Amino acid sequence: MAETETPTAEKKQRPILPFLRLPEDPNDKPYLYGSKCKQCGAVYLGARMACSKCLSTEPMDEVRLSDRGELHVFSIVHQSAPGIPVPYVAAIVDLPEGVSVRCNIEGVEPDPKNLRFGMPVEMFTEKVHTDREGNEIIAFKYRPVNSGK
Ligand SMILES: [Zn+2]
Repeated sequence: MAETETPTAEKKQRPILPFLRLPEDPNDKPYLYGSKCKQCGAVYLGARMACSKCLSTEPMDEVRLSDRGELHVFSIVHQSAPGIPVPYVAAIVDLPEGVSVRCNIEGVEPDPKNLRFGMPVEMFTEKVHTDREGNEIIAFKYRPVNSGK
C-alpha cells in the first residue's frame, strides 16, 4: 500500500445510517437493528417512537435483524447524481422479521436476467468514504447469497 498514514490512536468506524450497528467485537458481524412493539409484535427498522399498527407508545424492544432476506423489488438505475456510478441495482429487501429495507444490490451484473423476485440475498458492509476526522463511514448493501464467496 502506497499510502502510509500515521496510525492514529484508533480510527473509528461509523455507520452511514443509524440502524446499522457495527459491533466493537471484530468477531461479531455488523447488523441492522429494529424495534419490536411489546403490544402487538410488529417490527420496524431502526428506532421507533410509536407503533403504527396498534398505536402503542410503550418503549419497544430492540431486535437484531437477520443478515439474509429476499429480494422484494428491484430496479436498475441508469441515471443518478453526478459522481455515482451507474448502472446499479436499487432494491427493497424483505427480512424474515417482516421489515423491508431499501438498499443497493451488488455482487451481480446490473442486468434483469441476473435478478429475480424472491431471490435470497445477504447483507454485507463496506467503507464508502472517510470523513475529515479519519473515521471510516460504513454502508450496508446486499448481494445474492453465494456470490463473491
Ligand atoms: Zn404495536
